[in-house]
Amino acid sequence: MSEFDVIVVGAGPAGSAAAIRLASAKANVLLIDRADPPGSKNVSGGVLWGDSLGQVIPDWEKSNMLERYVEAKGVTFLTKDSKIALDFRSTKFGEVKSGYTVLRTKFDAWLAKKAKDAGVMVVSGVTVDKLAMEGKKVTGVMQNGETVTADTVILAEGANSRVAIDSGIKKKPDDRHMAIGVKEVIKLPEKTITERFNLTSAKRGYASEYVLGFLEGGVKAGGFLYTNKESISIGAVISMEDLRKNNQTYSFNIIEQFKEHPFIAPLLADGRVEEYSAHLVPEAGQSVDQIYGDGYMIAGDAAGFTFSNGLVLQGMNYAIVSGIAAADAYIATKGSTSADRYELYRDTLKKTFVLRDMETFKGSDRVTWSESIHNTVPAMAEEIMLNIFSENGEPKKHLSRIVMESAFKNRQKRKDMIVDMYRMMKRL
Ligand SMILES: Cc1cc2nc3c(=O)[nH]c(=O)nc-3n(C[C@H](O)[C@H](O)[C@H](O)COP(=O)(O)OP(=O)(O)OC[C@H]3O[C@@H](n4cnc5c(N)ncnc54)[C@H](O)[C@@H]3O)c2cc1C
Repeated sequence: MSEFDVIVVGAGPAGSAAAIRLASAKANVLLIDRADPPGSKNVSGGVLWGDSLGQVIPDWEKSNMLERYVEAKGVTFLTKDSKIALDFRSTKFGEVKSGYTVLRTKFDAWLAKKAKDAGVMVVSGVTVDKLAMEGKKVTGVMQNGETVTADTVILAEGANSRVAIDSGIKKKPDDRHMAIGVKEVIKLPEKTITERFNLTSAKRGYASEYVLGFLEGGVKAGGFLYTNKESISIGAVISMEDLRKNNQTYSFNIIEQFKEHPFIAPLLADGRVEEYSAHLVPEAGQSVDQIYGDGYMIAGDAAGFTFSNGLVLQGMNYAIVSGIAAADAYIATKGSTSADRYELYRDTLKKTFVLRDMETFKGSDRVTWSESIHNTVPAMAEEIMLNIFSENGEPKKHLSRIVMESAFKNRQKRKDMIVDMYRMMKRL
């Protein structure tokens, strides 16, 4: 007889959502997190997209853990001297759900507390070393030589999934499938933020993704800037492969270059850095490894469930939905054979956007980290805009000619442009 029905490793969105769902079905659950309080080591941009949390906390939108509701979404290319931006604002973001900005240190602790209130035993400040196994069957978790047993373990330990790797159930991801995210939280008065970003109220927010097409050494990185109630979250996600190859560049240099950009610095003026953090990000659309086996299921980042196409970066919603799917698979199969349970987990995920998106966007990293997106497109966009919006007293040209001249200058052959366009349309 096991000590617990389920042990959940990790109290991020995946683990806490799974634990809350399990507790609502009266399962005996242990939720373990290495941080104390849970979440204090977690990093997100972070916009919590959609309303997946409503599946476990129906009145979640009333929580004061939410910062601002995104009413303005940007996608921005930066070159050394220019900013080319799409600034999408819509009153329809009331009917169609966008997302709320959150600060993970507060948000995760709140979510873990919800699990505790629902009856889960929450243990924080304890790092699980390994899975306890009998042959290939997972029977619990090990910490400091001690074993705690469970019918099933849900691994929700995040992107740096040491427990799964050290227990031999997951391969170590290579650099191509990992990026590193660095982030700062910059304190500013609520009113300043609302005015600076032209927001309609202090409850409404702005979120933009950036292509940083101006970095020293041509390093490829995407940026983000999200508004909270009284702070701005700013950061960069950098290709691990690129960073490792380029010995001269470090992740903190990149966020500095981003913050000092002439069109970003004024947005942060008079702000005070409150928090600095860094974290791994599994590459979107990577091929997802085995996500279950005898005695365990893997959810959230640990399973590689993130999505990024340069326009949005999402992971928390995938974490919540996969955590709930793992819990539901346990609840539906309690007392029956293990094989049913784990296949049910996979089948449920296949019905949700989680595995469907992973399948649809498989290989999208080849576009999101391509030389074209990070260097050629920003350079061409700048040149085309300058050509269109400057008046030099010479006869005007058709847009198609401006584009072709710019492509030629940037050594883009017509054939390569068509191939790039095709890849973008197909993969993003
Ligand atoms: C810079 C950056 C920006 C991002 N921006 C966004 C965004 O805007 N929107 C979005 O949706 N997603 C964003 N993401 C992705 C998002 O943060 C993740 O997808 C999400 O946090 C995954 O949730 P999770 O519960 O699977 O893992 P995590 O949130 O990483 O939680 C894992 C938990 O496991 C615990 N843990 C780890 N190892 C152990 C162990 N051995 N023993 C005990 N506990 C352990 C950790 O302490 C942690 O609490 C961003 C990520 C980064 C890095």
